[in-house]
Amino acid sequence: MRRFFIEEIRAIDRICTIKGAEARHITRVLRMGKGDRFILVDSKGARFQVLIESTQRKEILVTLEEPLPIPSQSPVEITLCQALLKSQAMDYVVQKTSELGVDRLFPFFSERTVVRLDGDKSANKLRRWSEISLSATKQSDRLVPAEIGPLSSFETLITQMKEEDALKVILWEEEGAKDLKGLLRASSPEGKFIGIVGPEGGFSNEEIQIAGEAGFISASLGYRILRSETAAVTMVAIVQYEWGDLSLNKPNYNHTRPESP
Ligand code: SAH
Repeated sequence: MRRFFIEEIRAIDRICTIKGAEARHITRVLRMGKGDRFILVDSKGARFQVLIESTQRKEILVTLEEPLPIPSQSPVEITLCQALLKSQAMDYVVQKTSELGVDRLFPFFSERTVVRLDGDKSANKLRRWSEISLSATKQSDRLVPAEIGPLSSFETLITQMKEEDALKVILWEEEGAKDLKGLLRASSPEGKFIGIVGPEGGFSNEEIQIAGEAGFISASLGYRILRSETAAVTMVAIVQYEWGDLSLNKPNYNHTRPESP
């Protein structure tokens, strides 16, 4: 059954009104009408099977038929700090890592990023990435979309992350001693993981050092040099596989995951 998102499901006598873009999409694009059913989800995670009672030009009335279980959340909160990439590659990172369950995605520019975004351009991009993340959330039946942005410089990002308590990793293709697999397996699963992925041109030695001073451990993903977007998707998948829920087994360790917004 199709799923649609609204901000908050509010009903009077089990009747709920849907307006705006979702309503237009349901009636005009998908041509659904009276008697059709779909799943309605809100930003807090409530979800119901609903039946369309009537459609008008700008709104739809539905009956809430049945509450549905809230999808389970991964036990690990994953933050991806991603160097700005060209438009298509960045869209790819946002979409794929959202499907894989990234919780926060912070884009940044560093010494070797070629893409520069300022003012309006960056606001537009952040909006676009939020939309991509929202539609990936719907498609993958996640609870809430990733929090995206703000866009910052590498130095600002590192300063903000300094106090965060998590396994903090910076992916560096020149790291010769530590790898991501080893780091994840050496520590018992924790609630939070923060990973930084560099731009096409990689990080400078100085940047690796600054990150190190803020508690980031540099780690390798093996001997192949991956494109930045491949490294990002691989990192998130590996963290979900090792610490999270990339399986049907419920994790058998106990810790409280931070509350979702
Ligand atoms: N400039 C480098 C490659 C950068 S790859 C060169 O051309 O040699 C882009 C980013 O992906 C890097 O900054 C790093 O964060 C990540 N990355 C790619 N391959 C990696 C690997 N094997 N190990 C760790 N990180 C990797």
